[in-house]
Amino acid sequence: MSLKTYKNFINGAYMANDSGETFDVINPATGKVIYHVEVADEKIKQQAIESAQRGFATWSAMDAMTRSRLLLKAVNLLRERNDELAKIEVLDTGKPWQEASVVDVLSGADSIEFFAGLAPGIEGNQQSVDGDFYYTRREALGVCAGIGAWNYPLQIACWKSAPALACGNSMIFKPSEETPLGALKLAEIFTEAGIPDGVFNVVQGAGDVGAWLTHHQDIAKISFTGEVGTGKKVMAGAATSLKDVTMELGGKSPLIIFNDADVDNAVSAAMLGNFYTQGEICTNGTRVFVEKSIYPVFIEKLLQRTRDNIIVGDPMDEKTNFGALISAKHFELVMKYINIGIDEGATLAHGGKALQPADAPNGYFIAPTIFTDCTDEMTICREEIFGPVMSVLTFDGEEEVIARANATEFGLAAGVFTQDITRAHRVIHKMDAGICWINSYGLSPAQMPVGGYKQSGIGRENGLATLNHYTQLKAVYVGLQPLDSPF
Ligand code: NAD
Repeated sequence: MSLKTYKNFINGAYMANDSGETFDVINPATGKVIYHVEVADEKIKQQAIESAQRGFATWSAMDAMTRSRLLLKAVNLLRERNDELAKIEVLDTGKPWQEASVVDVLSGADSIEFFAGLAPGIEGNQQSVDGDFYYTRREALGVCAGIGAWNYPLQIACWKSAPALACGNSMIFKPSEETPLGALKLAEIFTEAGIPDGVFNVVQGAGDVGAWLTHHQDIAKISFTGEVGTGKKVMAGAATSLKDVTMELGGKSPLIIFNDADVDNAVSAAMLGNFYTQGEICTNGTRVFVEKSIYPVFIEKLLQRTRDNIIVGDPMDEKTNFGALISAKHFELVMKYINIGIDEGATLAHGGKALQPADAPNGYFIAPTIFTDCTDEMTICREEIFGPVMSVLTFDGEEEVIARANATEFGLAAGVFTQDITRAHRVIHKMDAGICWINSYGLSPAQMPVGGYKQSGIGRENGLATLNHYTQLKAVYVGLQPLDSPF
């Protein structure tokens, strides 16, 4: 059976490229090519810009209440098609259906619903000055570009388009070349909902297509999700025309467990923050700091629950709760980090090897991996692995753990487990991290602004704060009296 070839989505419809160039997309659970995608060539790029410019002109001129209603129609379509879309995410990413069917599409829809609700409420203010007055307007930026990572493809496309479109901008979105289908389906849904042609366009390809977006003079803003190193290149590209940027980058986040913590909840957090989406989550708490006095009970429960409760296999099987890594290349990278961990003297307490589940023997599976006896200097405790590799460290006191937790160039997330509310807030306030949890981990509702400190990011996604990242403030001074002039 010949495989389907998807085209770029421009001006409300699929558009063929002229070059005929395509790339393959692989199901990580089988290692097999599942479809092809046309690369955005010169014609597609040119059309994407022109389409987004026309889309912006139409969309930004619409009343915000109308925009809001159209976005809400898209929200309904996303929810109605949850299962169809979740299946696409499972086949593209290798993550379990158990997760995608309740998180990926719905959390994307939530974000669009949240910003659709805010759109008509965006307002300026006014102030009297010396008998005159000025007022401010929050205006759209223009054509914005979104560049996505592969771990939550549809959710990322929603989290970027939701505030962009709600504020009246148009968008050209480039999904990761590993997971290009979800964004195309979102584009179809926006069009079906009645959002004008050209408001949301999808261009396909690898880093070079992303780099073209970052350099393009007619793009006002880049919202990027990916690695720190790529983020630096994106920012340098954006600097060529002083574009606004939002950067959602990587992390090496600390999860701090004090000796008065509810140990079962803390173990849940450590497992969620390292093994959910087989460890491919930017906010993961991959450095698990455990106070020495509860270390024995913590580690026993952690190992037991990891042995007993993780079900690895075909991600489409409802029972599977741990899927395949995104690609053969990423599989090799994670295995390399595991071997470095062993070589540098960490104790491999669980996992550390490739798996071949009976119902998915050719997939890129790596067992949930737990290292103990870790030290802060080890490579596995310093570098983002983006796989199911947990490093457990111990500590003695509050000041010590705060200093060690912050001793990294990253600053994406942090978690604290303790029953002492004073300590919980005191410690979390000292964390150099933008996304923090107390007695919880990983939850990120649309209302909550998320983004990184230090090298983990710039700007925010979701939450009210993000409206400021997709609008610009115009101040208008209005003279009510004769203009005083020395001339
Ligand atoms: P990546 O940086 O390799 O790629 C991200 C995107 O950038 C892809 O679409 C890619 O094609 C594009 N790209 C590559 N080179 C480019 C260039 N020179 N110019 C413009 N675009 C370019 O990241 P990835 O491997 O897809 O994703 C994993 C990374 O994403 C991890 O570091 C993870 O922590 C991070 N991430 C962060 C968040 C967050 O919200 N903070 C969320 C998800 C993933």
